[in-house]
Order: sequence, then C-alpha cells, then structure tokens
Amino acid sequence: MPIQEKNFWATTVESPALAAAPELPDSVDVAVVGAGFCGLSAARALAKRGVSVAVLEAKTFGWGASSRNGGMVLTGMKLPAPTLIKRYGKELVRKMYAASLETIDCVEQIIGEEKIDCNFSRCGHLEVACKQAHFDGYEETAALTKREFSHELRIIPRTELRAEIGSDIYFGGMVDEASAGLNPARYVAGLAHAAQRAGACLFDHTHVTSIEPEMKNGARRFRVSTSRGSLTAREVILASGAYTTEATPVLRKKIIPIGSYIIATKILPADLARELSPRNRMIYDSKHFLYYYRLTPDNRMLFGGRAAFFPATENTVRQSAEILRRGMLSVYPQLRDTKVEFVWGGTLDFTLDVMPHAGKIDGMYFAAGFAGHGVAAATWCGAKLAGLVCGDPNDIPFDGIEFPTAPFGLRSGNTWALPFAGAWYKILDFFT
Ligand SMILES: Cc1cc2nc3c(=O)[nH]c(=O)nc-3n(C[C@H](O)[C@H](O)[C@H](O)COP(=O)(O)OP(=O)(O)OC[C@H]3O[C@@H](n4cnc5c(N)ncnc54)[C@H](O)[C@@H]3O)c2cc1C
Repeated sequence: MPIQEKNFWATTVESPALAAAPELPDSVDVAVVGAGFCGLSAARALAKRGVSVAVLEAKTFGWGASSRNGGMVLTGMKLPAPTLIKRYGKELVRKMYAASLETIDCVEQIIGEEKIDCNFSRCGHLEVACKQAHFDGYEETAALTKREFSHELRIIPRTELRAEIGSDIYFGGMVDEASAGLNPARYVAGLAHAAQRAGACLFDHTHVTSIEPEMKNGARRFRVSTSRGSLTAREVILASGAYTTEATPVLRKKIIPIGSYIIATKILPADLARELSPRNRMIYDSKHFLYYYRLTPDNRMLFGGRAAFFPATENTVRQSAEILRRGMLSVYPQLRDTKVEFVWGGTLDFTLDVMPHAGKIDGMYFAAGFAGHGVAAATWCGAKLAGLVCGDPNDIPFDGIEFPTAPFGLRSGNTWALPFAGAWYKILDFFT
C-alpha cells in the first residue's frame, strides 16, 4: 500500500497550538504577511519594542516551509565561497559569512530567551563528498574559510569517515561544528507563542489578497485586503517565502518555488541509529541534486532531497517517497528492512542568483530566497527587518545586491520549465 502523506514534525506539536486573535484591527503599525520563521521573528521583535503588529497567515501558523524542513540550522550560504567572492568581492562576502554565523546565534538566543522546547543542539554538520574531485576541493574550501572568515572547518579523510557516518559510499567529508539541529515545527510553534506573548496579534486563515498604498491625513499607509476584511498599516513586511502569491506580483516574479521532499523511517534501535550517525550530525552530500539527512530526536532516519522538482502536491509527494527510499538505501543499505512511516513535501524559495535577499520592494519590507538555509537566515532576517522598521541602521549584507527577476517558466505560479532546471542539475552532477 502506498504510504500516506504525513509530516513527522507536525505529529510532535500539541494541537491546537495557538489560539488566533479574534478580529482584524482597523489599523496597525506593521502588517506581516506570512507566519513562518521570518514573519514570526519579525513580529516578536516588533512587539517587544512596543510596535503594534498583525501577522496575517493564509493557512495555519507555521504551515509553510517552516514546519516542513529538515531542521538543519546551517552555517554558510548555498553558493560556495569562491563563487560568492568572485561575484560580490571579499569585503561584502566576509559580512555575509559573519551574518550566516550570527543567524545561528540568533536562533539559539531566541530559543533560550523564550524557553522553546525544540531539541536545539549544536551538533555540527557534515558534508560528504560524492566524488573524489569534490573531496579534493574541501581542502581549498577549508583553507579559504579559515583565511577569509576566520572560521574552522575540519576535513575528514575517507579512512576516518566511519566515525562520522555509517556509510562507505563517500570519498570523505567536511565538518562544521558551529551548525545545529532542531525540531522545526516545535520551533515555529514556539516562535508564534513568543510573538503573541510579546503582544503581536496573530491571524490564521487570513489570506492577503492585495496591498495598495494610500494617503491618510497626509501620510502614506498601506491598505491590506484579506479574506477576512481589510486593515491599514504604516509598514508591511512580506514574509511569504516560496508561497508568495499574486497579492505581491513584483516579489512573486523573483521567487523560484522548488519542491523538496522528506521521508522518515520508524524509530530505529539505538545501536543502529548510532551506527548510521555516530555524532548525530546534520548531513548533506556534495551534489547539486543533493540528499540531506539526519536522525530525529526520537531516532528515526529523516532523509530528504529534491526527488521531484515541482512544488509539493499530493502526486509529487507520493512519487518522492519511493525515489527517496531508494536514495536512502544507496547511502544506508542497513535500512533495507526498515519501514518508512512518513513522507511529506514543501516548497523552497530559490532565487535566480541562489542568494537570500532582504530590504524593500515596492515600498514594503521583505526577505526571501533562503533556499535550504532558511531556518536560521529567515529568523535572523525577520528580526533585522523589525529593526529597520524601528529605525536601526541597516547592516543586512543581502540588502542592496542585485535581485534578478526569474525567467518566465521558473516563476512562482508558472513553473513549467522547472523539470528542465532539474534535468540540468542532474547533468551537472554527472559531469562535475
Ligand atoms: C522540505 C524542506 C526542507 C528544508 N530543509 C531545510 C533545512 O534543513 N535547513 C534550513 O535552513 N532550511 C530548510 N528549508 C528551507 C526553510 O524551511 C525555509 O527557507 C524557511 O522556512 C522560510 O521561512 P519563511 O518564514 O520565509 O517562509 P514560510 O515558512 O514558507 O512561511 C511563509 C508563509 O506565508 C504564508 N503566505 C504566503 N502568501 C500569503 C498571503 N498572500 N496571505 C497570507 N499568508 C501568506 C504561507 O501560507 C506560509 O505559511 C527546507 C524547506 C523545505 C520545503
């Protein structure tokens, strides 16, 4: 019987997680579109500074990528440092890298301050090399990271890899001890509670349908129309990620929504779990079309990847379960007889330049493009946007860099060309 779609993380959160505010106010200082890490982190920070804020979420709090991801809280950015330096220059990339380390501290600090019970642990991440050439590149990456960013990465030769991973298919690895892991659904639920405790009003099942600037008593405001009525706001923060809709067409044209899928096995015996991941790392491989995997806090193997490239639907989720199971067995043949109990999917917010972006668009604050690095970066950017609203100096290194529009066919709402992009990455993986 085909396995039914079910997000493992969602089963670990008490329901109902949070009571939504009853009625939309007529006006607020700030309206936030989207209740994921970014929107909720922004709302928490704003409310703590006495700003009135309404979070408007089309589905339920944390419904988007924030409750569906691998829970890997990763250092660095999606693109390799040499590519970034060539594109943006050393000085700016140093700031970006420093920000990537700060994002993890930011998550750790919020979890500590708000006492969010989400299994946060600085367990480190392990990147494993699928080819000898990839492993050969690790030496250079580690040297550059140390020289330019004063950050330590540890190379693991193939002969020592068994201390890190119970698989023999890789050519070596590279460890970053600064990365962390958490349960994303519990984290985003905790953030929602924290934002509400601080005084933010949270509205679920409230789909923003349009946002128009208007003048009121000589001051510019935004009229935000939703499925539950409208309100006005002095400022708007767009935190709608990969799920950005036609309500904000300019931002939507810049987002490339890419499906990512995850399976989770039944709970493994403790000795098998230890064999598969002796140091409980967050693990991903060196391919473009990559696999990422980890143990869950209750010792399931959680195994994810871009099994299908289209945004998640019931169909792509079902197909992905089998593709991912085969992938998991290629890494861990030990799991041959282990039942897969969960499969689910979500949509990643990629951009054409594979970079996060934050700042202002169409007069509104926004942050997007986190790809597979959003747990920490979206949290941090949300807090930073809140600071900008309150007049803090702008030190977001992802603001002001060129933000290209996605080509037709890759854009949110019109993604017919995505399988070609997927095929391209598979070709790249074959040759590089
Ligand atoms: C399967 C998967 C695995 C991943 N694994 C990792 C990982 O291990 N580590 C990592 O760092 N990152 C990972 N990511 C990426 C990470 O989850 C995201 O980058 C991050 O959650 C983005 O947060 P966000 O707040 O910007 O957006 P989201 O969490 O997607 O929230 C956006 C919200 O906006 C709402 N919305 C959109 N439009 C409207 C509207 N018009 N009106 C009202 N509401 C609206 C949506 O309903 C949604 O809930 C993964 C993503 C996926 C899908």
